Order: sequence, then structure tokens, then C-alpha cells
Amino acid sequence: MKLILASGNAGKLAELRRLLEPLGIDLESQAALGIAPAAETRSTFVENALDKARHASRESGLPALADDSGLVVPMLGGAPGIRSARYAGDDADDDANNAKLIAALGDAREPAAHFYCALVLLRHPEDPAPLVATGRWDGRILGEPRGDGGFGYDPLFLVPGAGCTAAELPAAEKNRLSHRGQAMAMLLESLRAEV
Ligand code: IMP
Repeated sequence: MKLILASGNAGKLAELRRLLEPLGIDLESQAALGIAPAAETRSTFVENALDKARHASRESGLPALADDSGLVVPMLGGAPGIRSARYAGDDADDDANNAKLIAALGDAREPAAHFYCALVLLRHPEDPAPLVATGRWDGRILGEPRGDGGFGYDPLFLVPGAGCTAAELPAAEKNRLSHRGQAMAMLLESLRAEV
């Protein structure tokens, strides 16, 4: 089975390929087929992932997989949320996003937060019963960054029980615990029942 990944991110493609190969699934990125990314216009991760998968499936004529993820801080009404990558502006980098988050939290002491990931697989663009998997990783937000690993908000995300930030965890450990790791495990379980 050939599956299109609705992302141009080479790291994600490599990681997901490794997981899907044992199921006989050949993953190809939409970028390799010249498919432009879909606009992210919705207010939830699940809806955005669904739009992205539907766009990739429609454009390619093949089944498609999409993900959407970000950091949710309840104290900030769910922000950065679906705007996680662009929190400090459309061209913002990780440092700018992290600085904006620290400023927005003021003198709050290690408020609760969670990473969230939605994965959606559509067998065809009009698939009425998409496979939907979600993952959530709970932690707390520090007042200053710690660690050089990972990406995004990892240096501010204190992992309960581990006593370190997500940026200080070995990559394999982060993949095991993370929102994306959990969502992928759930999706693989559903997929195994189908292929
Ligand atoms: P995307 O789903 O790869 O587009 O990620 C959206 C944004 O959410 C990223 O640019 C990061 O800012 C944030 N994010 C998602 N997953 C993680 C993570 O595992 N660690 C840190 N930040 C993340």
C-alpha cells in the first residue's frame, strides 16, 4: 500500500517510514509529488490534520496521512495551540516563540501544559470513517530554557517524573513518551487491523 504524507518535513518522513515499513506501507511525501501544503484555517488540531490529509489524498489520488501538533497551556486559554509554530509571528523561530511564551506567563510558577498531536489517515478523499489517533503529553512550563535537544518548546517543557526538560531527554526516550509517539502507537494499532 502506498500512502502520502501531508508534510514536507524530511525528519517526520524518515521517522514514520521506519514505523510503517514493517506493515508493508510505502510512505511518500506530498512535496515529492509536487503537492503544495494545505492552508491551516481551522481552530482545532484534528480539523487541521483532517483538512491536510484530505487535500493530499485529493491531489495525489492516494490514501494520505497528516499530523498536526502543538503546545497547549490552559492558563493561556489553550495558546499557543494551533498557532504553536507561528506564536510570535509568521516567520518566528523557536527562540522567539519561547520568549513570547515566557513573557505571556509572567510570574506564574511552573504552570501546567501539554503537548497534543492529532494524526489522521484517509483511505480516499471522501472516506467517511478516517482513522484518527491522538496523543497528549503533560508537563509544566519553566521560566527559562534548559537543554539543547529536541526542537520547539522542548527546552521549556518540564517532564514530570523525569526531573528534566524534553530538550534534556534522549531522543528515543522522548519518542516513547511524547504526544506524537502515543498518537503513532494508537494509529499503528488501528492500521494493523486493516493491512
Ligand atoms: P508541527 O505539527 O510539526 O507543525 O508542529 C507545530 C509546532 O508545535 C512546532 O513548530 C513546535 O513549535 C510545536 N511542537 C510540536 N511538537 C513539539 C515537540 O515535540 N516539542 C516541542 N515543540 C513541539
